[in-house]
Amino acid sequence: MKYDICIIGSGAGAGPVAYELSRAGFKVLVLEKGGSYQKEDFFKDEIGVCRRSTFTPALDEEQHVIEDIQDDVWTRTPTSKSGWDFWNGNIVGGSSNFMSGYFHRLKPMDFRLKSQYGNIKGANIVDWPISYADLEPYYTKAEKVIGISGKVVKHPCQEPRSTPDFPYYPTSEHRISSWFDTVCAKQGFYSIPTPRAVLPYAVGNRQGCEYAGYCGSYGCSSGAKGSSREALLNKALKTNNLTIKANSFVKKLHSKEGKVISAEYLDKNKSSHKVEARIFVVAAQAIESSRLLLNSANAEFPFGLANNSRQVGENLIFSSGGSGTGEFKYEDFDTKEVEALKQIGPFVNRSLQDWYEIKEKGKSFKGGTIDFLFEHPNAVSRARRAMYDGELVWGNALKKRLLNHFTTRRVFTFEVFCDWTPTDDCFVSLDETIKDKWGMPVAKVRIGSHPHDIKVGEVLAAKAETVLKEMGARNISSSISPAPPANLQAGGCRFGNDPKTSVLDKNCKAHELENLYVSDGSFMPTGGAVPFTWTIYANSFRVADEIIKHLTSMKKKFR
Ligand SMILES: Cc1cc2nc3c(=O)[nH]c(=O)nc-3n(C[C@H](O)[C@H](O)[C@H](O)COP(=O)(O)OP(=O)(O)OC[C@H]3O[C@@H](n4cnc5c(N)ncnc54)[C@H](O)[C@@H]3O)c2cc1C
Ligand code: SF4
Repeated sequence: MKYDICIIGSGAGAGPVAYELSRAGFKVLVLEKGGSYQKEDFFKDEIGVCRRSTFTPALDEEQHVIEDIQDDVWTRTPTSKSGWDFWNGNIVGGSSNFMSGYFHRLKPMDFRLKSQYGNIKGANIVDWPISYADLEPYYTKAEKVIGISGKVVKHPCQEPRSTPDFPYYPTSEHRISSWFDTVCAKQGFYSIPTPRAVLPYAVGNRQGCEYAGYCGSYGCSSGAKGSSREALLNKALKTNNLTIKANSFVKKLHSKEGKVISAEYLDKNKSSHKVEARIFVVAAQAIESSRLLLNSANAEFPFGLANNSRQVGENLIFSSGGSGTGEFKYEDFDTKEVEALKQIGPFVNRSLQDWYEIKEKGKSFKGGTIDFLFEHPNAVSRARRAMYDGELVWGNALKKRLLNHFTTRRVFTFEVFCDWTPTDDCFVSLDETIKDKWGMPVAKVRIGSHPHDIKVGEVLAAKAETVLKEMGARNISSSISPAPPANLQAGGCRFGNDPKTSVLDKNCKAHELENLYVSDGSFMPTGGAVPFTWTIYANSFRVADEIIKHLTSMKKKFR
């Protein structure tokens, strides 16, 4: 057999497994449906990113179907009609190329949500089969290997750490950050420097951050951002043990007698290939990972691979919450303050976790995280927002509005991250009629949310608004919505100890197959109240250790 391990996908869930296994001397194959790019290929192409799907599939060729509730009826809308889809970046390195890199660890309580707070009516909350202590060494490893910069400060919600501080000091800070700190201190809130998967200085072949601020939705041209491609795959390639096949869409995994025997993929020309390996790892991002398993049904697994429990695709989760904004109008500030506000480049990088647990009327419930930042510098999307700001205008009136929008104020924003409560109304299945250009049924995603999540998000948004008000912002508003953010997906292949209620065991190996692992965010039974990617990276490093043990024991068996 040419490969010890075949990984489907190349993003945050795949990278650590490819990196660790190839460094341990195993032959690794990565099959990635998208093309291959390097940092030199990325530039600030605003039209390409905002108006065209440069790094995601054309929706008339590959789409999703969304089921949401309208007038109490689940309504099915193909995304080729709505234009709203769940693709986030389909190139080598996956959506980690396009992330903003705001990174937080989960807290110990996130691993035992049910025991700590109990179930909520209509929800499927469970404890994780591992604890924070099991994952902590891997959060620390990710800091070092991915390149996570930050600074530990004392605050009541600080999670336990095995090292006193981050291996990389924080990226440069905007002048407004200390302003934010002062206001928070006055209000009795603990301002936290937000950890970032961004290098402040050059390390190896990666340059330090260039501070253009085009992190979210854009590929990083310096290599400072800790994408799976930049931080892991490029280094793993140097071992000569890793082969990456780009433009290779895996349509099916084939199994026999409880083992995956091959992955069937189609190349750019739609020619079909089959590849064998000892171990298979699925990391295609939560929705596509569930879809691949469902599309791999066979006589042994009539409902989909690893799905005799009927759990594949169930309990899909996102990050719930929303965002808000406020305007710092230059006319409200003195010359020095305006000069500070106009500073371009450094990041605000501030978060609040004072309400990670909320206490109300003697009861506690789970809260969340608020990240603070400036509006994305992307001028196309800022102009589009200005267009909808008030009544529709055009011609000179529109020009005047744009000029005003860009020259008289700075927009400060916040993002709220809360748990997306898992329910029976949020899951992935296969659409009965629509197929993609490869001839495979597309994912149908039911996106029901729990009303509890709105309540939590609103508590946090109100707190964030008080900070903006105190800082002197005007026109403050926020929107907490039940709509899922497409870029923060998890669940669908829960891990757990009981094969009847989970797809994966605690090591993320399928209960029902000997050699199948899932290493993206699909394993998460609950998502915590932070963006997911640090946890995905950390868990994938943990799974890599388990696979190395697995392969080593296989070798001993055959000796
Ligand atoms: C604009 C944006 C901003 C973000 N900001 C943040 C942030 O600030 N903080 C944070 O924590 N997270 C952020 N994220 C989320 C982060 O990028 C993801 O959580 C993370 O990349 C998920 O890793 P993954 O391995 O599950 O998926 P991905 O990284 O998307 O990788 C999956 C890969 O699998 C490939 N694939 C899919 N199906 C197949 C198939 N059948 N065959 C072969 N290959 C396949 C895909 O093309 C893709 O390359 C952001 C994402 C975006 C898009
Ligand atoms: S601001 Fe820094 S991390 Fe972000 S894309 Fe630019 S160089 Fe990369």
